[in-house]
Amino acid sequence: MIQTERIVIASAGNDFVNFTEREQEGLRRAGEILKAGGLVAFPTETVYGLGGDALNPDSSRKIYAAKGRPSDNPLIVHIADWGDLSRIVSRIPKAAERLAEAFWPGPLTMILQKSDAVPMETTGGLDTVAVRMPSHPVALAVIREGGGFVAAPSANTSGKPSPTLAAHVAEDMDGRIDMIIDGGALGIGLESTIVDLTVSPPRILRPGYITREMLEQVLGDVEADATILQSQAECGQAPKAPGMKYRHYAPAGELTVVCGEPEAVVEYINRRADEDRKGGHLVGVIGTEEMLDRYRADVIKSVGSRTEEDVIAARLYAILREFDAEGATKIYSEAFSVEGLGQAIMNRLLKAAGHRVIDLQVQQEVGENDSNRK
Ligand code: AMP
Ligand code: MG
Repeated sequence: MIQTERIVIASAGNDFVNFTEREQEGLRRAGEILKAGGLVAFPTETVYGLGGDALNPDSSRKIYAAKGRPSDNPLIVHIADWGDLSRIVSRIPKAAERLAEAFWPGPLTMILQKSDAVPMETTGGLDTVAVRMPSHPVALAVIREGGGFVAAPSANTSGKPSPTLAAHVAEDMDGRIDMIIDGGALGIGLESTIVDLTVSPPRILRPGYITREMLEQVLGDVEADATILQSQAECGQAPKAPGMKYRHYAPAGELTVVCGEPEAVVEYINRRADEDRKGGHLVGVIGTEEMLDRYRADVIKSVGSRTEEDVIAARLYAILREFDAEGATKIYSEAFSVEGLGQAIMNRLLKAAGHRVIDLQVQQEVGENDSNRK
């Protein structure tokens, strides 16, 4: 156990234009910790990150240990200044320049060929490196104070939902890391989009707030990895983004996603919930605002209106954690649209469910995959 220091940075009503003296002092301390090989959790615009010096192999080892994450699951290196990119990649392709121009700082991660400066510990043994420049002012300040290169996976225990509040980070990381910076609730709530620029055409390995359509406007043709949406059937491909093979974001209860017409979905979930409750289960439901009063279950949570995908994205992980706190042993969720940001939402939801999906249109249960749970 180590002593975890907790600081709050909520400058100027959360727009972080100017840090107070005291906050600046805290950020400097965070930088000292990182430079000395320690770990600091900090807010970004997507989810809370668990930061360590990306160029220090010991720091990366500590990150894997703190998360209980398999060390072949590579880390994303966060930078704060475009000029720093050339130090960690061997070549900057034109596509990277264009994407950075359009989306950095922001929730986009690019895979590039790494330089010798990046240790294999950070890339999980790969000769490519994932790089992102976040837009959150606290993240940018922490990266600069910490020497410019911060490896930062989500600050959760491996396999649990990513943290969107500092309280989630504390739940998982208290006593395991040196500092937690509380920057309040985060805006996006889902991890960055990952695009691989080492292949042609570029390929999306993880969907996020920056959608395929947005990338295509800048790059032309962009492919989506076939493993991204497996709602119909498992496609049996070996995933290229190594983290993709692990079950992620999962609540402790057994989560099932139900697809179909809204009426049929409500009816199906209520029937299953009745059975489960008779069997002694505590049953939770994740529903949209529009359908909420129709459910019968022990804990019913609104993820937001069906029409507000940004709200659904921002709430999803917190809701999954709340079910743990409430002891739900069976959880059912509506499925959401897979257009735009919906693709990222469904990608995370299906992973959280270990791809346990009921599609009422085809009346069959698709793949249940618990064996990879990490
Ligand atoms: P996280 O840090 O939890 O947001 O996850 C980072 C994810 O980025 C990993 O699980 C991988 O899927 C992906 N990733 C990181 N580096 C690489 C890389 N060099 N090649 C392919 N995927 C990567
Ligand atoms: Mg993660």
